Amino acid sequence: MKILKIDHLGIAVNSMDDGKQFWGDVLGLPFEGSEIVEEQKVNTGFFPVGESEVELLESTSPDGPIAKYIEKKGTGIQHIAFRVDDIEAALKELKESGIRLIDETPRKGAGGAKIAFLHPKSTGGVLVEICERG
Ligand code: ZN
Repeated sequence: MKILKIDHLGIAVNSMDDGKQFWGDVLGLPFEGSEIVEEQKVNTGFFPVGESEVELLESTSPDGPIAKYIEKKGTGIQHIAFRVDDIEAALKELKESGIRLIDETPRKGAGGAKIAFLHPKSTGGVLVEICERG
């Protein structure tokens, strides 16, 4: 498995506008646009920073995974995403290492990326996403 870089930090926010206020207006990061991922009931907003991005996550529904996350843990860093060169190979290798996978096969993320999550029980409590972009 080859990890190429930290692709993005996923940050749960109550509203995209609140998020934009800090990450965009205060820190001055450029807002690249937002995209709704229907399957995950989430609106994602991207702020490129260097080689990586800040990804704001706003739930589009009270029963979505991000809404539930905020209910339990509050807003803040929700996951860390690493870019890999070959996500299928990475998942296979992780599984063979005994890592519990939330996604056994990649699913579609924002921006056409292939993404998969590893279970925090196997990572010392961090929700880790791996992603591959074409
Ligand atoms: Zn992500």
